[in-house]
Amino acid sequence: MKVAIVGAGPAGCHLARLLASSEHGILLFDHRAPYEKPCGGGLSPLVGQRFPEVMALPFPRHQPSRVVLRASDGSQLEQTLDPSHWAIVSRAALGQAMLECALANGRVRHVRQRVTGVKRAGRGWSVCTASGSTFLADFVVGADGVRSLVRQEVVGPIPRQHLSLAVGYRVQGAPDAVVFQTYDDLDGYLWSFPRADHASVGIATRLGAVPPQELWQRVDRFLDQVCLEAAKRDRYSALLPIAWDASLWDSPCAGPDWALLGDAAGHVHPLTGEGIGYALWSAELLAEALARGTPESYESLWRAEYGAVFLAANALLSSTSWDEGAYELVFHLVMAMALQSPGQAH
Ligand SMILES: Cc1cc2nc3c(=O)[nH]c(=O)nc-3n(C[C@H](O)[C@H](O)[C@H](O)COP(=O)(O)OP(=O)(O)OC[C@H]3O[C@@H](n4cnc5c(N)ncnc54)[C@H](O)[C@@H]3O)c2cc1C
Repeated sequence: MKVAIVGAGPAGCHLARLLASSEHGILLFDHRAPYEKPCGGGLSPLVGQRFPEVMALPFPRHQPSRVVLRASDGSQLEQTLDPSHWAIVSRAALGQAMLECALANGRVRHVRQRVTGVKRAGRGWSVCTASGSTFLADFVVGADGVRSLVRQEVVGPIPRQHLSLAVGYRVQGAPDAVVFQTYDDLDGYLWSFPRADHASVGIATRLGAVPPQELWQRVDRFLDQVCLEAAKRDRYSALLPIAWDASLWDSPCAGPDWALLGDAAGHVHPLTGEGIGYALWSAELLAEALARGTPESYESLWRAEYGAVFLAANALLSSTSWDEGAYELVFHLVMAMALQSPGQAH
């Protein structure tokens, strides 16, 4: 069958790579991949342990040896980090390596065009692009991120209450440590993730909870505290899907001739915001479902493999409505556990 994958981020590229040696014809649509997506670029032990084939790709990475957890009362916990467990990457470099790998055997066709519409056409789909072309496909995959066009067509957009706003900078001169800063009056956190030649420093919280200007001010204050010399470079802001409660999982992520992966499916850890590992995982499970000849089984596969982790995080998040400061407490607890036993939190 002909499979149209919309989006060549981690989810779309990984699926294309896995299907490249199948009997399916693969069209991979993306007008801008690879690109420097606004992101921390943090690859946790989930990626290292579960996707060694991705970690083996030749992209540059930085592996800091320290992590610092800073709290609103000024206290901080510093710990050494096993460099083999964490890597921080540029999204453009990761994207380039993943795309080259997906295209390597010549079976995947990269259509470098923006998709403008995905509609049912007879027993399949027509995929229209900004340059006026139309492509027909039997199966369509939405790997097109948080504002997925495919998702809008099949189940509707990610509801606003499940969106978070992230703002930040790419900075030179930030500390060579992974830093997390929490607040007692913010459901979210600030991060500083050092890469080889700069750091991604940003903050995220529920969309609409805090004016964006205040988020920028918190990042500025943090930079003034930890690295006065830091040269601010490109500013970025972006949305990410965060299921603040379990109702996001009421929508299906697969039907007989469609599926949603990664951010388009909302598959981001609701507490940590980690999404790259889950984008890869979702792609792996859809490839497995397609190989079985039962694409809809992807729905039960993702729920069985990591759905319980998301539900547990949703339960913890609902407990944060107790009190101001509860989010901060829960975040530190979860991070401390994750640092004690890397890879077990997934
Ligand atoms: C500020 C920020 C920081 C983050 N930090 C981290 C982190 O440190 N670690 C982590 O694991 N996760 C992090 N995340 C989450 C992570 O970025 C995502 O979960 C991950 O990129 C999801 O991968 P994806 O392939 O599903 O989507 P994306 O990476 O968003 O890729 C979607 C692709 O679809 C393409 N596309 C979109 N629309 C169209 C269209 N109409 N036509 C054609 N192509 C289209 C885009 O060009 C893009 O290449 C962060 C997110 C944000 C916003």
